[in-house]
Amino acid sequence: MRKVTRSLPAPRSLDKASVPRTKKVKGGAAPAAPAVPPTPTNELDRAKKHFLAALPTSGKRPAFPFKAYKADDVRTQLFKDFHDKCAYCESRYAPTSPVDIEHFRPKGRVKNTKGDGYWWLAMAWDNLLPACIECNRHRRHPTPTPPTRAGKTAKRLGLDERKGVFTSSNVLTTGKQDAFPITGRRLAALTYNYQAEGALLLDPCRDEPDQHLHFHIDPTAPLGLVLPKATRTRTTLAHLTPVPDSKTVPAIRKHAASIQASERGAVSIQTYGLNRLQLVRERTRVLRRLEFYEQLLIETAGIIQDLHAPTANRDARKRSERAITGLQKMQAMVASQIRELAHESAPYSVMVKAWAEDFRRRAALMPAMGP
Ligand SMILES: [Zn+2]
Repeated sequence: MRKVTRSLPAPRSLDKASVPRTKKVKGGAAPAAPAVPPTPTNELDRAKKHFLAALPTSGKRPAFPFKAYKADDVRTQLFKDFHDKCAYCESRYAPTSPVDIEHFRPKGRVKNTKGDGYWWLAMAWDNLLPACIECNRHRRHPTPTPPTRAGKTAKRLGLDERKGVFTSSNVLTTGKQDAFPITGRRLAALTYNYQAEGALLLDPCRDEPDQHLHFHIDPTAPLGLVLPKATRTRTTLAHLTPVPDSKTVPAIRKHAASIQASERGAVSIQTYGLNRLQLVRERTRVLRRLEFYEQLLIETAGIIQDLHAPTANRDARKRSERAITGLQKMQAMVASQIRELAHESAPYSVMVKAWAEDFRRRAALMPAMGP
């Protein structure tokens, strides 16, 4: 998950849907039937009338036809702000698969709670995110099981690329859907004090995902896992939070607390399914590509070092200089490929950034990679 700064102002369709107006509005947010004052003229007002009314005798409120969030300008702006990537997993949407305009706080019902959802935020710009269907809908996915004791390495928990399986996994139901676990008090209708709710899920626009999530980087055994960040020590594979019961947020929190890892990180990884098999495979492929680039950089650095060996022969020196220039160009091209993979518009850019930081640390220790 990458921190994203949402562009402002909000798309016009949302503005029209929630800002009180004296005149009838036109466009995507207009009421289906002609408004006659004082009939509500925008979507929020109509939603208020709908949701604040007494429950029908059936006890079930009919669905409300929210429309504003689906408007073209909302989609366009969201896709632009998030570089056509899922807000949660950073996967680029496949041209053939649908993308959900996701309500971070669910507009309909909220899992494990009674009553209505956050209907007044259905047309709120800061509540909308683009999400891939795998992060957003309940589906069953093979998910890696953590090492049962500290000290096991990524080799024990690996990915058999040929068979397309984890070496150790469970099939779990993940996907956010209508989940919105909190530790505080649920917002009352038409209130906006998000802070007091103590949301357990990470919001890429409001939170700092880096403080809660850690990408596992092990050059000896590339495996694209994301872990809840350790709160006191270095994050290791031992922090991969096992899910005793995938449906129970308290169990995930309890375990995260027992291993001193970010609870919000652990709950988010589980809820969005950030370690589902397909996603880990994609991220592992990127890591393998990065390892290949690393090898190229190291090999060329070694050859450049050899070519720098002093020689009295003028021709040989010139040939060496030409070869060095060629190799340095090649290094620059490889470095530019790595920068491209780490760019904010690239899939899994946060993991690539983590890899690059790790590589910089390792390279500083390699004699051939010195200045
Ligand atoms: Zn996703």
